[in-house]
Amino acid sequence: MITAKRLAGQTALVTGASRGIGREVALALAEAGAKVGINYATNVAGAQAVTAAIEQAGGEAKAFQGNIADATAAEHLIKEFLAWSSGQITILVNNAGITRDGLVMRMSENDWDSVLDTNLKGAFLITRGILRTMLKQRCGYIINIASVVGLMGNPGQTNYAASKAGLIGFTKSLAKEVGSRNILVNAIAPGFILSEMTASLGDDLKQKYLAQLPIGRFGEPREVAALVVFLATEGTYITGQVFNVDGGLHS
Ligand code: NAP
Repeated sequence: MITAKRLAGQTALVTGASRGIGREVALALAEAGAKVGINYATNVAGAQAVTAAIEQAGGEAKAFQGNIADATAAEHLIKEFLAWSSGQITILVNNAGITRDGLVMRMSENDWDSVLDTNLKGAFLITRGILRTMLKQRCGYIINIASVVGLMGNPGQTNYAASKAGLIGFTKSLAKEVGSRNILVNAIAPGFILSEMTASLGDDLKQKYLAQLPIGRFGEPREVAALVVFLATEGTYITGQVFNVDGGLHS
């Protein structure tokens, strides 16, 4: 359960928050009292809708356009965000991600690169950009949205699985680098969560996944968001961990 206003006075940046899991994470952090930066790449209307929803509920938010896979754009995004947040950031959620599925034999170099660039390099660029601020503050929560696919693999998703497994390695290594400064770094590995990313999967594949789920249903974005809020409020002695939110898919 979200503890009301536990994050009052804190600032958060959520990448890829114009829809899906990122949107719910932004709404939940704002509900807990944080001032939230809503990053998006192309979906202006989605980002504005999230911002408006937070403001209508009495919270504070601002949309920040920026392709996190591009070093210059990432740097610009962080500069704009820190100007808005008075140079503070307590919570970073590296959520933005994409899929370009296909069998290795037929996978283009572009499909490989774009997934790795967004899902892994993007998280690195944004994290590197905000780390100086967190180090000075001597506190911070970095929460990386990985995937169970990074732990268990999935045919047709070698690029995606490699990016998410890489993000988990990044999480564990960074946790060891910055723990002494009270910066806590964790990863969440969702299973099959209902969002636009999964909406495009064929019914056959959905039925196949459903059959493997002990809980017998797909997850909701808010079920991932609840764990983000927990880690950023109660998770004061948790770092370098990976938490599955997958209905028992991978155990
Ligand atoms: P989604 O509905 O496709 O939303 C993806 C978000 O990422 C959008 O807001 C999109 O912004 C943003 N984005 C994509 N590329 C970007 C870039 N280069 N720079 C900045 N923002 C970018 O995805 P989702 O299902 O909510 O997934 C969110 C995260 O959870 C992803 O990392 C995904 O891999 C992970 N995940 C999802 C599931 C699932 O079942 N849904 C399972 C495991 C893990 P624009 O719309 O503006 O382009």
